[in-house]
Order: sequence, then structure tokens, then C-alpha cells
Amino acid sequence: LSPLAKDSPIGRIDENSFSKYTGCTRFYQLPLSRKTQDGLSDSKYAVMTEIQRASLPHSLCGRDILGAAKTGSGKTLAFLIPVLEKLYRARWGPEDGVGGIIISPTRELAGELFDVLKNVGRHHSFSAGLLIGGRKDVDTEKEHVNNLNIIVCTPGRLLQHMDETLNFDCSQLQVLVLDEADRILDAGFKTTLNSIISQLPKWRQTMLFSATQTKSVQDLARLSLKDPEYLSVHEES
Ligand code: ADP
Ligand code: MG
Repeated sequence: LSPLAKDSPIGRIDENSFSKYTGCTRFYQLPLSRKTQDGLSDSKYAVMTEIQRASLPHSLCGRDILGAAKTGSGKTLAFLIPVLEKLYRARWGPEDGVGGIIISPTRELAGELFDVLKNVGRHHSFSAGLLIGGRKDVDTEKEHVNNLNIIVCTPGRLLQHMDETLNFDCSQLQVLVLDEADRILDAGFKTTLNSIISQLPKWRQTMLFSATQTKSVQDLARLSLKDPEYLSVHEES
């Protein structure tokens, strides 16, 4: 039995089974791969937060997401889980290249969410890299970026690789995440983000998460969102 054959047939929310999962409150009730389930329980994640409950049934069946929930409400797992599941179901492997890109507005936040990815994704065999510039030598990075399956990055460093790294190829990208999307869509990143987007395939899944709901129709158009689910959650705490 290959490692994949063991649990791969479960794990798909299609449009028909979608409604079964909208009332779920715990991660184990979702049709996630064993590898993701184990990563979640290793980290003691059991009960979903409200934004996770609201968004995962949609994101896991491949829909584009505009998720808004205040800081500290668990948005990171709301996008990391579907990234892992999407690539896992696609049987993404070392030769398949970049399958997921997660963009964060700051190096610090990118580093934090990379740590969560390493924890929750520890049983998966994807290669993941943190591309944030600064202290790291870009030339060393260039030798490795082509082998990454999941990239966590800041906009500037990602664009630098798109511009400078030989054969850097995002043409098969399956899923794009903008964390703190309101900050990334802000004027300061406009040119950078537009250049990035123009180099990504349009048929990918796109998820935007932030503390406030993104309302600009223009922004949504430039990201080529397909009939996105708007999910706003204001959790009592
Ligand atoms: P946000 O991005 O919305 O500000 P985070 O994703 O950083 O929030 O999560 C905030 C905190 O909540 C983190 O410490 C994280 O480990 C914790 N957390 C997230 N989801 C859960 C969960 N389902 N159960 C318990 N703790 C969680
Ligand atoms: Mg966050």
C-alpha cells in the first residue's frame, strides 16, 4: 500500500456533499486527509473557531473566499488547511513545482505563519519555503525556490524571484492566499501586487483573509476572483 492510497479517497468536499459539512464544529468532522488531521491534533487543535467553521466547507470544495474576522480569530488555519488539502488531493509532488503561494504584508507575519504551516503540515511531504528578504541571501534562495511546493512570502521578495530567478515557474499554481489582504491590497503594494498577479494563472483558487472585509470591486477584479464567498465573522470572546 502506498502512503497515498491509505487515505486519499476520503477528503473531498464536492458541491453535493458540501451541505453536510456546514454544521461541523470540530476538525475531525471534516473530510481532511489523515496527515492534516494528525498535524492538527499534534498541535492540540480540535474545536474550530468561527471563521474556520464558516469558511472551511467553502474553501475545501475549491471556492474563492473573502474572509473577514478580527485579529486572533484563527484565520491562519482557515487558509493553511485548504492549501494543504488542495495539493494533497492533487497528489502534488516534488516535480510539480509551486502549487501554493501565501502572501503576507510583513516579514514577521510571514515568519509566524510559516511556523504554523510547519507544525500543521508536518506529516505532509511538501517542500515549503519562507521568502521574505532581509537577512537571507537571495542567491542561495534562488537555487532552491524552484523546488518549493508551498511558498510563504512578502510581496517584494516574491516579485524579486519572479523577475530574477532563472526558470522560476508559477504557471501551475493551484492556490493563492493573501493574508491581511486589506494591507496587501493597499496602495503601497499596488504595483508589486499587479506584477505578481499578472504572472499567475487565472484558474487558480484564491483566498483573501483580513480583519476587515475587502469591498473594492476593482481589487476583486484584478485578482480574478470567481464568484467568491463573502464570509464575515464577529466572534464574541
Ligand atoms: P488571526 O490570523 O485571525 O489573527 P491566528 O490564526 O493567528 O489568528 O490565531 C490566533 C491564535 O488562535 C493562535 O494562537 C492560534 O494557535 C489559535 N488558534 C487558531 N485556531 C484555533 C483552534 N481551532 N483552536 C484553538 N486555538 C486556535
Ligand atoms: Mg493572521
